Amino acid sequence: MTLFDSTAFEGHEGVHAFSDEKSGLKCIIAVHSTARGPAAGGCRMWPYADAEAALEDALRLSRAMSFKNAMADLALGGGKAVIIGDSRTQKSPALFEAFGASVEQLGGRYWTAEDVGVSPADLTHARKRTRYVAGLEGHPGASGDPSPVTAEGVFRGVQLCVRRALGRELDGVTVAIQGVGHVGGYLADKLHAAGAKLILTDVNAEVLHAVAARTGAQVVAPGAIFDVDAEVFAPCALGGAINAETLPRLKARVIAGGANNQLADAETGRAVFNHGLLYAPDYVINGGGIINVAGEIRAIERGEAFDVGWVDAKLDRLARTLEEVLDRAAAENRPTNEVANEVAKARITIAAEKRAAA
Ligand code: NAD
Repeated sequence: MTLFDSTAFEGHEGVHAFSDEKSGLKCIIAVHSTARGPAAGGCRMWPYADAEAALEDALRLSRAMSFKNAMADLALGGGKAVIIGDSRTQKSPALFEAFGASVEQLGGRYWTAEDVGVSPADLTHARKRTRYVAGLEGHPGASGDPSPVTAEGVFRGVQLCVRRALGRELDGVTVAIQGVGHVGGYLADKLHAAGAKLILTDVNAEVLHAVAARTGAQVVAPGAIFDVDAEVFAPCALGGAINAETLPRLKARVIAGGANNQLADAETGRAVFNHGLLYAPDYVINGGGIINVAGEIRAIERGEAFDVGWVDAKLDRLARTLEEVLDRAAAENRPTNEVANEVAKARITIAAEKRAAA
């Protein structure tokens, strides 16, 4: 593959490769779009097999961030950084300082944050060389753990989907949650408080039993979660939960959860639609976390404290966006994931046209 042949490259404004011999840094920062504002997306550290694999991941993830940020109605574009290396053995303060210097070279076109393999502690080193870092603790604009906000957005989305697909409120509805870590755990609490009955699973038995004990939930083995009698299936673990093998087993009428990349591929979205299930597109319903991060970027840029009210208003708007997607998909009799992609692309194109005309 050459860079320009990659289907993932499509639409990218810029792709930047940085290296620092002293610290061993090798990183790629992909900026998909700054049409709506500076590109924002986390930094992932991963032992990629080669630079090509790292590039492909950076491109795919940065484009996904553009879509997610547009659907969350944020004045942010999409970007992503990947550092090639093993986060367990190859981290050092110097490496993250060099990463910070790389971010700084983009002059504010890209804001970084944590992602897989990168912690807030790592980012404090990056922060020594650039101000374009979100997700740090101990300053007035700090946004803290995004998971409760993600879970609140998912909760509102589940509520909306249940009203539409089942014509009822959450009280008495059975929800199966796959993965009760940060997002799934908070979601379980909120659903329990709303009167939903829960069936939970997790590969981490300790976490699973703690959440089940406080929510009175039934517990099943990880592989059994696709077969339970539940009206809602909420994927809150890793990607790819909905695939050709699991979809026919689901008895649920609604798929709505916090995980990223829930569908194995785009065709699965069509299969979900053909099965008559209502699917809340993942990057729309789980936009609460990036809204929280955006609240921090906004606070830093304005030199103000973090504004919880602003975040809450954006969560309301996110629920309306989800409703718009579901309305249009219903009116056009099409899969919700396809409609979401179209709406996201249109929002980015409109912003790009406005910018060009200004
Ligand atoms: P987490 O690691 O805290 O929780 C994930 C949980 O899933 C863990 O408890 C893990 O043991 C469990 N798990 C993993 N594989 C499993 C399997 N096969 N079956 C059952 N359980 C399994 O992560 P999180 O922060 O809660 O994120 C969960 C998902 O939501 C991820 O896909 C993440 O990308 C996405 N997401 C998170 C946020 C956020 O704010 N944290 C925002 C947007 C999207």
